[in-house]
Amino acid sequence: MQRTPSTGRRSLPQAEAIIDLDAVVHNVRRLRDYAGDAAVMAVVKADAYNHGAVPVARAALAAGARELGVTTLAEGLELRAAGIDAPVLSWLHTVDADYAPAIAAGIELGVSSPRHLAAIVAAAESIGETAVITAKVDTGLNRNGVARDEWPEFVRDVARGQAAGAVRLRGLFSHLAHGDELGHPEIDSQRDRLHQAADDLRRASLPPEVVHLANSAATVTRPDLRFDMVRPGIAIYGLTPIPEQGDFGFRPAMTLRTRVALVKKVSAGSGVSYGHRWIAPADTTVALLPMGYADGIRRNLSGRIDVLLGGRRRPQLGRVCMDQVVVDLGPDGGGVQEGDEALFFGDGRLGEPGAQDWAELLDTINYEIVTGIGGRTVRTYVGGEGGELR
Ligand SMILES: *Cc1c(COP(=O)(O)O)cnc(C)c1O
Repeated sequence: MQRTPSTGRRSLPQAEAIIDLDAVVHNVRRLRDYAGDAAVMAVVKADAYNHGAVPVARAALAAGARELGVTTLAEGLELRAAGIDAPVLSWLHTVDADYAPAIAAGIELGVSSPRHLAAIVAAAESIGETAVITAKVDTGLNRNGVARDEWPEFVRDVARGQAAGAVRLRGLFSHLAHGDELGHPEIDSQRDRLHQAADDLRRASLPPEVVHLANSAATVTRPDLRFDMVRPGIAIYGLTPIPEQGDFGFRPAMTLRTRVALVKKVSAGSGVSYGHRWIAPADTTVALLPMGYADGIRRNLSGRIDVLLGGRRRPQLGRVCMDQVVVDLGPDGGGVQEGDEALFFGDGRLGEPGAQDWAELLDTINYEIVTGIGGRTVRTYVGGEGGELR
């Protein structure tokens, strides 16, 4: 997503994702309540689920998150470059990644195989530093993490690397396959395997300081999975990790706003937008909004969403185009003027839809909706103690 222009004359952007840092603070505080004695690692991967990694990380830390989680080394380095010195864990790397700068920046590395470990040992030795690592163990997701058959060799290699001063094992973690399916038996078996892996490390004189497993869904539903730290992502952004179970008191942080580019009359029987998939049943007035599928308004939403405009929800008409959509204002135009603000989704306080509504229409999850907004959309911030966090 584009950054807010910092200089020059500024009118309201045509396509804007407004990020409410007060909502982030609220959500992190709520997660701390759910976490009890466990620490909170705020997951700010993928540019904080497209909310902006640095401002969100600052807000989350101010609200009491103790650590930050990212996917890539570059994401970790971006936080360090912004002056954030909280613990940062990065957990998905190719074997040939450039580990040395991350080690030098004190980014903790999640390690998922003996090959990755060897590369990290070599990088640490090349710069004469000790890499702080967290073992990522595969307890059943069969995705990232040390595979079961490689675990004994991995533990041996960590012991060797630690004895040589190249690495220091700080943590142990794993990720759930069914975190959002309450009571699924696989959750218990993953928890048990994580306990076993921790025992294996203790027996090898590598006792982990922090063990963690719970994502957002597990944090709000499974106190027995807290271990030393929880690792929520989506809930920080205020979206529910288990839609069937309600919102858990989280507040959506992203509002997608645009402005009316044009108002015009359309007469009965006329088609609107590509393919004329919508034909006006009566004379009406329409508004043109300058956001389309290039900005993340997915084309599969064509004719299926409402937009909050002029104080009411109004139906979007016909096809979503690359750059624009059309909305019905009714015969009298509802008093809507060119330049007026329109909301695609937000926290619902003004009656606008939520990202969750779009997820249901598209048969996907809310994560994909907020991370999919982009193109020409400009990100701006509100809240966060007068802007200090930005
Ligand atoms: C993304 C991710 C999380 C956060 O998951 P949410 O469902 O967004 O809470 C936690 N841990 C790992 C390893 C992840 O990749």
